[in-house]
Amino acid sequence: MLRVLFPLLTEEKKASTFPAMASRPPLEPFPVSTPAATLVFTTVLTQGPVSRVEVGRRTGLSSAAITKAVRPLLDAGYLVEAAEGAKGAALGRPANPLRVDGGRAFFIGIKVTGDEAIGVLADLTARIRGARHVSLDTREPAAVLEVISALTAELRTAAEDYGVPVQSVGVAVSGDVDREVGMVHYSPFLGWRDVPLAELVRGATGLPTVVDNDVRALTVAEQWFGAGVGADTFALVTVGAGIGCGLVVGGRVVAGAHGVAGEIGHLPIDPTGPPCHCGNSGCVEAIAADPAIVRRIREVTGEPVATAEDALALARSGHPGAREAYARAGYAIGTGIAAVVNLLGPGRVVISGEGLTAYDLFEEQIRAAFATAAFGAAKECELLTRPLPFEEWARGAAATAIQMFIGPDKP
Ligand SMILES: [Zn+2]
Repeated sequence: MLRVLFPLLTEEKKASTFPAMASRPPLEPFPVSTPAATLVFTTVLTQGPVSRVEVGRRTGLSSAAITKAVRPLLDAGYLVEAAEGAKGAALGRPANPLRVDGGRAFFIGIKVTGDEAIGVLADLTARIRGARHVSLDTREPAAVLEVISALTAELRTAAEDYGVPVQSVGVAVSGDVDREVGMVHYSPFLGWRDVPLAELVRGATGLPTVVDNDVRALTVAEQWFGAGVGADTFALVTVGAGIGCGLVVGGRVVAGAHGVAGEIGHLPIDPTGPPCHCGNSGCVEAIAADPAIVRRIREVTGEPVATAEDALALARSGHPGAREAYARAGYAIGTGIAAVVNLLGPGRVVISGEGLTAYDLFEEQIRAAFATAAFGAAKECELLTRPLPFEEWARGAAATAIQMFIGPDKP
């Protein structure tokens, strides 16, 4: 496949284009051998500093199992022990807090949008150590792969300045993405169908690669390091160019049997509503995504509104037709959120995405539609907003790479 995409690369040229493939030492395995050990590490990663005793309480594992998991992680430097409390406290005491040494391993996360690729270098605690943006001239898979490869090479060079190896790459793409096989089945913004992206990136960079839906990747970062820490069940709803939703149920990010769990954007809200790119009519996305709002405003007002910025400016100027389009979008989003809450009962819904810049124009309708359609105590669910710029989405992709590196925490 690579040969087709890079037919002119000789071995030397390949080595200079992708130094990753030339002279770096082989990647080291992560010293956990069981899901229980991964669970111990994940608990310290997301909730640390935390003592062995407390890890036992939170995971239900025995102190023997925790000691067995912790020892090789301490030896290899992934965990460190802070001997706090009594002066001269001895290392190895069960009450000493453990934390992850973020600088022990680095990861790359890349979010691909319709017009740019955003890459971050993240450490093991998902702290961003460097970021790069590259605009896309075309959306052809081969061209996007070249951009991803170049970004990866640049970020690996940045990692070398720290003297820390990059262990894996996560790539986040919107649409129908099967993480298990690394396949982008359908991405409307990129116009892609059945692109085996994980295999292509792995081939081009020589690094283990995971590819996931972008909202789900962002949800992993929020679950581990953001607004979802400690929440057993929560939903992340993103508004903007599309309407997405990531779900965490019982502490797990849900992908579903076909990888499309949480497709709130295609809940049918209004059977007489506008056509959706999915082939149905009146989906949340067909009413509330930026292109739908722009189209609606143009139809209702006759104004030459072309972009989300134009739409926002007209609504902010007080134009009633433009304000009505946002109100309608808010109603659709609120109804969609109520459907998610009625089905899964999360304690918290986090609303994010680039569409938050217009939040004051539809918050009232989101809340009113949610209150109308939420059943009984589901109304108690907390709706909060959290602006997450695209670098945070790239950080989400890095979180999926960390997840792959440390392995599954369930058998
Ligand atoms: Zn649809």
